[in-house]
Parts: sequence; C-alpha cells; structure tokens
Amino acid sequence: MYDIVIIGAGTAGMSAAIYAQRGGKKSLMLEKLTYGGQIINTPDIENYPGLMHVSGFDFAGKLFEQASQLGASYEAASVLGIEDKGDVKVVHTDNGDYQAGAVIIAAGAKNRPLAAEGTPLFDKEKSLTGRGVSYCATCDGMFYRNKVTAVVGGGNTALDDAVFLADICQKVYVIHRRDQFRGSRTTLDKLKEKPNVEFILNSEVTDLLTDEQAQTLDRVETCDKVTGQKRQIPVNGLFVAVGQAPCNQPFADVVDLDEKGYIIAGEDTHTRTAGIFAAGDCRTKTLRQLSTAAADGAQAATEAIRYLNT
Ligand code: NAP
Repeated sequence: MYDIVIIGAGTAGMSAAIYAQRGGKKSLMLEKLTYGGQIINTPDIENYPGLMHVSGFDFAGKLFEQASQLGASYEAASVLGIEDKGDVKVVHTDNGDYQAGAVIIAAGAKNRPLAAEGTPLFDKEKSLTGRGVSYCATCDGMFYRNKVTAVVGGGNTALDDAVFLADICQKVYVIHRRDQFRGSRTTLDKLKEKPNVEFILNSEVTDLLTDEQAQTLDRVETCDKVTGQKRQIPVNGLFVAVGQAPCNQPFADVVDLDEKGYIIAGEDTHTRTAGIFAAGDCRTKTLRQLSTAAADGAQAATEAIRYLNT
C-alpha cells in the first residue's frame, strides 16, 4: 500500500515523486517503458529556467536520481486501469495490482503518426517504420550518417531533429504544411544557416515510395498546397515529428477526456474523481513544456498530499 501511485515517470511524474517524498508520503512511480518520458530524446534543452544547456538524457537521469534518493519507488509496469474504491485506489497493471490513497496520472503522450489511421498512407507508414521511417532523430539519426533525410513537421521537435540531422547527414529536407513554424525562432534561425537544409513549405507528404528490392523507404512524394504540384524526393530516411497524442484510454473510467483524448483537469490538476489527479502533457492545457510539466507534477503532489491529510 502506497500513499501515492504516480503513473508515468516523465518530467511531470518524477517531479510529483520529488514533491510527494518531500511531503512525507510514500510514493511509487509506474512506467511502461523507461523513466524519462519524451524529453529523453531531446539532444539539447535550452529553455528550462536556470539550465542553459542540458541533454534530455542527463536531465531525466538527474530527476530520477533526485526522486530515488528521496525514497520514491519505481516499478516497470503498464497500467491497464484504475479502480476507485473511495479511500483506496487500485491500479491494475500487467505486473499486478498496486493500491494507494491517491493516484497521479502523468502518462504523457506518444508520437502521432503522419497519416490518419485507416488510410493507405497510414498502412505504408506503419510498414516502413524501422525501414526508413522513424519518430526519433536522436535514436535513429546515426543510421543515416552521410545520407539524405527528411523531417516532417513545424514544431520544436521537427526543428530540433532537423538541426541534429543536418550535422550528420548529407542533406536534410524540412517538409512543413505551412510557411510559418510554431517551433522556436532561435532554432529556426540556426537551421536556416545550415547549407545542407532545404525547406519544402506549404507542402504535405502524399505518398511513401519503396525500394522494391530492399523494401525500404526510397522516395517521399510531396504535394504543394498552393500550386498543386507533386514532387518525388529521393530520401533514405523520413523523420516524422508532427506532434503527440495522449494515451489516456485506460483511465477513462475514472476521469473525463476531451475530444482529443486529454484528461480534463484544471491548473489544480483535479479530475472528476476525488483523489485522482492529472499532471503534465496528458491533461488539457495550453502550453506543454518541460517547465509546465514540472510545475504540474509539483501541483499534483501538493494536491494529493492535501487530499490524503484531510
Ligand atoms: P507540436 O508543437 O504540436 O508541432 C507539431 C507540428 O506538426 C506542427 O507544426 C503541425 O503543423 C505539424 N503537423 C501536425 N499534424 C500534421 C500532419 N498530419 N501532417 C503534417 N504536419 C502535421 O509538436 P512537437 O514539435 O512534437 O512539440 C510538442 C510539445 O513539446 C510542444 O509544446 C513543444 O514546444 C515541446 N517541445 C519542446 C522542445 C524544446 O523546448 N526544446 C523540444 C521538443 C518539443 P501546424 O503548425 O500547421 O499545426
């Protein structure tokens, strides 16, 4: 029996564990992959207040060390559902059941596919994943050293990926559906200085073409939304960076989800069930950043402690 079970050991979850332990509560972090969450793949974080440069890997490692040294427990488990029994919450996982007085859901989000599910492009994207299509430049970029790659998207992930790839690849195309980027101006300026980067703007990826023999990605077809002109670009790798989607279905019995699947909770992190809180990228919010995830974790743990103490 724990005081607080925290689902997810990303920035929000680990921040919650630090605050829970410092508040004198026995906490457990459950994580289906490995601790760190999305930030673990970011090569260089430049916007976390007080830290001018830190890799996502080092940042996550320090958070984990801090939470562990304070006494937080950690288990590898995939959560299947939460049962609300009033003062006791039972968290069902593929590794058994865990009980706690309060639960903090900090389950983050997963990479969104480029194509809509059920379309032929979605099937191609799935079958080429690991055969030319990737969702993580820092994990897979080195496979494309001195080769030609493309990045799709216009957010911070796409821009960071393109900067990283430009330093190791022969050429990098940045394909974006608009001519304005939502990613940071500083990173965009850095990218524009790279001689081996070509921007393909106002364009959508309309097809992924395969090398018949190797069954790997060979070309990307784009369509210019203004002129309607189609273009086939020979590439060895395509990095999809078109945002994230939440994975909150296992919690739908105890929390309300909005139309995009995010947990409906305000800045106080309260969900519709007393004693169950939502923190970080998995909840409805306008700004999903490292700093807001950490803030959510602190808030959720503080609210959980208040709930347990009353
Ligand atoms: P994001 O900010 O949501 O950007 C997704 C991008 O993909 C947008 O440019 C969007 O285009 C485009 N897009 C969405 N669906 C598409 C589709 N079907 N086809 C083509 N393009 C599509 O996602 P993100 O870049 O992964 O970032 C997620 C959050 O993490 C953000 O808050 C971001 O700031 C943060 N983050 C921060 C850092 C950092 O601070 N270093 C690094 C990585 C991520 P539109 O612009 O036209 O909508």
